[in-house]
Amino acid sequence: MGCRVRRLLACVALALGSFVAACGGGSTSVVALDDDASVADAGNDAETDATVPTDAPQTPDASDAAATDAGPDAIACTPLVVDAALVDGMIVGLPSSSVVVSPPVVTPQVSVTPPANHFQKQVGVLNLSPTIADAQSVVHMLAPMGMPYAITTSPVLAIQHDMAIFFPEATASSFDATALQLLTQYVQGGGVVVMKYSEVAALKTLGGVASSTFRLEHHGVDLTAAGKALFPSLDRPEEQHIPLGGDPGVYLNTWAMDLDPAATATTVIATFDDGKAAIVEHKVGAGVVYTFGVDWRDVVLRNQLGHAIDATRGYINLFEPATDAWMLMLRDLYDARVRFGVRLHTAPAGSRGSLLLSHDLDWGASYDNAIQFMRDEAALGVNATFFVHTKYVTDSQDTAFFGPERAAQLATLLAGGGSIGSHTVAHSPVLHTFPVGDGTEAYPAYAPFNVSLAQTTGATLFGELRVSKSLIDPALAGRCAPHETLTFRAGNLEYHAASPQTMERLGYRFDSTRAVGDVLSNFPFRAMTDWPDALDTSVFEFPVTLEDQLAPRLDQRVAAALAVVAANADNGAPTTLLVHPNVLDYKENALKAIVQGLPAGVKAMGVEAFGAFWRARDAATLSFINYDDSTKTLTLTLTTPLAAEGLTIRVSPQVSSVKSPAGVTLVTGTSGNFVVLPPLAAGATLTITLGYI
Ligand SMILES: [Zn+2]
Repeated sequence: MGCRVRRLLACVALALGSFVAACGGGSTSVVALDDDASVADAGNDAETDATVPTDAPQTPDASDAAATDAGPDAIACTPLVVDAALVDGMIVGLPSSSVVVSPPVVTPQVSVTPPANHFQKQVGVLNLSPTIADAQSVVHMLAPMGMPYAITTSPVLAIQHDMAIFFPEATASSFDATALQLLTQYVQGGGVVVMKYSEVAALKTLGGVASSTFRLEHHGVDLTAAGKALFPSLDRPEEQHIPLGGDPGVYLNTWAMDLDPAATATTVIATFDDGKAAIVEHKVGAGVVYTFGVDWRDVVLRNQLGHAIDATRGYINLFEPATDAWMLMLRDLYDARVRFGVRLHTAPAGSRGSLLLSHDLDWGASYDNAIQFMRDEAALGVNATFFVHTKYVTDSQDTAFFGPERAAQLATLLAGGGSIGSHTVAHSPVLHTFPVGDGTEAYPAYAPFNVSLAQTTGATLFGELRVSKSLIDPALAGRCAPHETLTFRAGNLEYHAASPQTMERLGYRFDSTRAVGDVLSNFPFRAMTDWPDALDTSVFEFPVTLEDQLAPRLDQRVAAALAVVAANADNGAPTTLLVHPNVLDYKENALKAIVQGLPAGVKAMGVEAFGAFWRARDAATLSFINYDDSTKTLTLTLTTPLAAEGLTIRVSPQVSSVKSPAGVTLVTGTSGNFVVLPPLAAGATLTITLGYI
């Protein structure tokens, strides 16, 4: 055995499941180190440090220690020689691990925020339903926008904040006379209320609305001229007309409002397709009230769940912000009305937006080609996530190609800065019909077989997720490149309704399977169990917006692709691009042209790298914000439970300097300034003092 003792410890610490790493030997034969492996190993340490938060099984600290202690010549763990072969159409003898199947995970759902954790610059979310989880749709707008919020069932607590959202609709018992009086004073004094239409007379009066007609047949919402002025983020036609979907038989609940003739200073912000008011603004004293005639559970959660009742304007390769628009409305109101409001920016390290690069490796030749794409990307200073189809069963689709030679190729991709995700075992066009399975699926007994495009036998959802991971990580460990597969994309962007909770049980964190036309969103969101439960999971979805397979060829629509990236970047939203490395040539040229042509301030990176940023950002909290007009200083505190890189806080354009701490920088922009934080360790709390004009 050629292993150094210290590296042996690292191998044991980092190997997953029951797989015996190269240093563990057993009956496996070993060969001497080659140069590839050394490069792979060093590269992976860097990648692990950058992207794996510290609550992961492999901690950055452990990784660091291994690399530092071992010294430059001791990173030479010995690559595994695998004796695998194609037998009866199946590749047998591959190393595999036993991927842990957690019990069903109960991700914390939306809950009341303890009063001690409230502060004025949060959005006060007043949940008006007996079920606190009904605030979920509001959280699914505020959390992606990075807006701090506190959820309460107390009207009085809700209006301790500069901006309040009331949801769902109020009933007569929601507010007593005292609360209504305080509410009126709050708005007159400059408060902002955003609420769903309800039949409570005092709220209608406050909103400048007389009545509404429920459930007329509506298929879209259009901003009026006043709406376009109010929501500067919604500056494109696709954002100013928001489709609601449906047909004469099935359509969403809406409340078409009539203005209160007694009210002054009312303005219709948006109308339904019959011209009736969909959003009404009512200025009251120094404050303002917005009443919405839609239910955000329909126009946000339903879309994210993939049940948009045909609201989409296309499937993929288009700018489709129908879900995002509702979030951007709240963000624009917050930015305009909350003095010194702060929120976590949606792109890392002060960038304006992001292009998420990804490749799906769907046949044997794709592996070599992928290395060329990785090198192209490294030369451009960017990286990508490579989704690996671990096909080891020959069937009607293809000959098995996930042989032992793939290990070195995957290690090379990692070493060059790429990240590796799973792209299933079978790549079946009918994944959505698979039984869930029981989590015991394991290589090589699990043998999914595509009989035809319409039939796959022997496959389960658990099998596709678990067995692919059980092959990828040992293949990399065998090349001295410890790895945990965290990211998934199904073949053909096939979505199984039980995928989020099943991914969660297998340790996946990021999914990039939904086409933008299925969810009408470019912002990542927390994947949910299927309707009607719609429970949040810990898995984040990164919708796929651009791809390379539909006509015309990608190199002939670079400008169109960049236009979508630009439209999203204007909102701070990422755009995910999928390029299959089945062909080099024009696809390489297209990818280079897209990366080199990115709009100013847009950075490209892999789905997994962005995922790590997004996950840490989601867990981070802005916990205190205060300002002092005598010293012109703004103080805020951020706590991050996970190690975080690139966290960026959007602040008012008036903020002009960073007073402390060192390492925090200010980037000025046209629609606000960005405070860029240094890399933060898990559990870090940072108090930031800013100066303003
Ligand atoms: Zn594929």
